[in-house]
Amino acid sequence: MAEALVRFEGVRKAYGPASGGYAVRQLDLEVRRGELLTLLGPSGSGKTTTLMMLAGFELPSEGRILLEGRDIARLPPHKRGIGVVFQSYALFPHMSVAENVAFPLEVRGVAKAERATRVQRALSMVRLEGFGDRRPSQLSGGQQQRIALARAMVFEPPIVLLDEPLGALDKALREEMQYEIRALHQRLGLTMMYVTHDQQEALTLSDRIAVFEGGLIRQLAPPRQIYETPANAFVAGFVGENNRLPGRVLGLEEGLARVALDCGPEVWARPVDSGPAGSRCLLAIRPERVAVAPVEASTLGEDALPAVLREAIFQGDHVRLRLGLGEGGEILVKRAIGGGQLPEPGGPAALAWDAEHAHAFAAA
Ligand code: ADP
Ligand code: MG
Repeated sequence: MAEALVRFEGVRKAYGPASGGYAVRQLDLEVRRGELLTLLGPSGSGKTTTLMMLAGFELPSEGRILLEGRDIARLPPHKRGIGVVFQSYALFPHMSVAENVAFPLEVRGVAKAERATRVQRALSMVRLEGFGDRRPSQLSGGQQQRIALARAMVFEPPIVLLDEPLGALDKALREEMQYEIRALHQRLGLTMMYVTHDQQEALTLSDRIAVFEGGLIRQLAPPRQIYETPANAFVAGFVGENNRLPGRVLGLEEGLARVALDCGPEVWARPVDSGPAGSRCLLAIRPERVAVAPVEASTLGEDALPAVLREAIFQGDHVRLRLGLGEGGEILVKRAIGGGQLPEPGGPAALAWDAEHAHAFAAA
């Protein structure tokens, strides 16, 4: 396993008595050398505060931050040698592109000839060689953000921090830039800490994702694991789509929980943190993991769940089905185009899923 480049140890942050508690409540986190670690979470969950403490723009109220084993909590930003990219590009408008990228080198006293070489190299990394003489205002949003990235990398920092760097771009450009950042990270072996509230972006980019909520990390794992085995109901709800059906644990058998859904049916699920028999729980099942047949459930045996199709919405590459489940329940199903006959609107449907894909969580 790669060694830790950055280590947060028992870090807490309150912005003063008026701010109402901790922005970061408890943080123990390692960033490994060469990884792209994403901080993912809703607005206000403490992602930017975490990044700002590492960059040196905010001081932790408690705890230590180590960079290459050195405590940097009291070191000013420019002495940390960390590259930072923000959502607003923060390029200097009165300077040329080359002067912008050269700026961190100038501050560090790098000689002029060496500066020119390194600026050229940084511009070619972001595929903007030949743009050095232009002004930022002559570039598109995506190009400006690539310049900001070149400026953050030009002095070869041990780690580059990016706070919602693509937030201002439209969807197509954002996706293109995601692949570009990922490629840069892989090609150069850069260590990156990336902040986003966009779960799709986090899944696309990351080696590991730290899911934040209320100033705490609720799960830290590679994207696939976050998606397929969420550690709690919050992560299950925040990353990807999930049906969340309330119910009660009836019992546990051979590693599975028997759950009575409030809408009637009894189903099997993998117990995550749902507790002993009698506990209230939330059953989570992804829309793409539910099989649908256009028949009465009773014709398929006792494990099929009775449902009624309310609505089928064509989405191009798939169909979304909204179904009534049991008494008063509702479930969303995603079905690939060409996946067999659909139920009729208002007509009977039978649902089934593999118990391995259903997760039982503690009800919040
Ligand atoms: P995120 O980046 O996940 O949206 P932030 O780290 O910006 O979250 O904010 C976490 C919490 O700290 C929020 O409740 C926010 O209002 C508060 N906060 C952030 N910056 C400041 C500040 N400079 N002064 C006071 N409170 C702040
Ligand atoms: Mg933020």
